[in-house]
Amino acid sequence: MIHHLLVRILICRGKQRSPDSTKMVEMLFQQNTRQNGRPMVGPYRENNINTRRGDQWSPAQYKILVYNNRILKVRKMIVDKIKKREPSAKNKTSNIDIPVGKWIKCDKCKEIVYKDDVRENLSICPNCGHYFRMHINRRLKMILDEDTYKKFDINIDTNNPLEIEEYPKKLKALREKTGLQEAVACGTGKINGEEVVICVMDSGFMMGSMGVVVGEKITYAIEQAIALKLPLIIFCVSGGARMQEGIISLMQMAKTTAALTKLDEAGGLYISVLTDPTYGGVTASFASLGDIVLAEPGAMIGFAGQRVIEQTIGESLPEGFQTAEFLLEHGFIDKIVERKDLKETLYKLIQYHKGGSGNV
Ligand SMILES: [Zn+2]
Repeated sequence: MIHHLLVRILICRGKQRSPDSTKMVEMLFQQNTRQNGRPMVGPYRENNINTRRGDQWSPAQYKILVYNNRILKVRKMIVDKIKKREPSAKNKTSNIDIPVGKWIKCDKCKEIVYKDDVRENLSICPNCGHYFRMHINRRLKMILDEDTYKKFDINIDTNNPLEIEEYPKKLKALREKTGLQEAVACGTGKINGEEVVICVMDSGFMMGSMGVVVGEKITYAIEQAIALKLPLIIFCVSGGARMQEGIISLMQMAKTTAALTKLDEAGGLYISVLTDPTYGGVTASFASLGDIVLAEPGAMIGFAGQRVIEQTIGESLPEGFQTAEFLLEHGFIDKIVERKDLKETLYKLIQYHKGGSGNV
């Protein structure tokens, strides 16, 4: 609006001004004036503008023009600088030989770090300690004893209930890219010799969202934990229910919850590990229902995102809201465990449940 007015002032300047344009300038000047009546446009410098003999502009109106001229000059300076900088920036980067896919930028410290260094450090930034999200295979390798993972033999696919044309194509492309069949892997494995049923989700596959396949796989794993009388561990990471499957994806919340109730009645142990990020229908179902709920440091955990809540209730939320640390303080989770200690902690908790002699 203000820009339109300023442009119009410039156009009007060389012509006979109409009473309307004068009124507009005055209105604009009033908007740009502080309470004490001093203009916010800075000191008036007459030589900055091309004055015309016999012009009837008032000093206040000139000030607006000076202001407008300055904006245009500064904008031109910035554009020129960017234009000059662009080719030199390109030359600079082209001189450095960075192998494609070998480096990764840390979201927290913004440093470019060597991927292999991150991998060797349990997918933690060697510079600032930020936790990167983990691929299913790396997570399984980190938690389970070597060569003990046996995945459940369930080959199911979504029936695309909303008949979205792009959805099967997207799934196919993701399967090729990630090497995963779906956003969760379920099976059995051993933690320091203790056999468990384990489910691991992956944010790289449609943000770990829960559709009918994820829901069914997790339910199957829970039923296996009951049948085999084994502890159940689920590593959660998810954006929530999968919107491409509409209400069918929401039904997975009820299905997994009902299965967990049976596990509870059978006296089974369920440990839920929340990793960054755990949101939506997953938080609202199996992620929050662990007998013991663990979380990784700094993980974001919630139902709706912070901005959505703020817009809905019209209030700003406290600092650190939805972080694992905030939720620990408010009793939503039981313990924050560093990645390097996760395997040992899980082992000890299983030992406790068995009545063994684990020491914490
Ligand atoms: Zn970092």
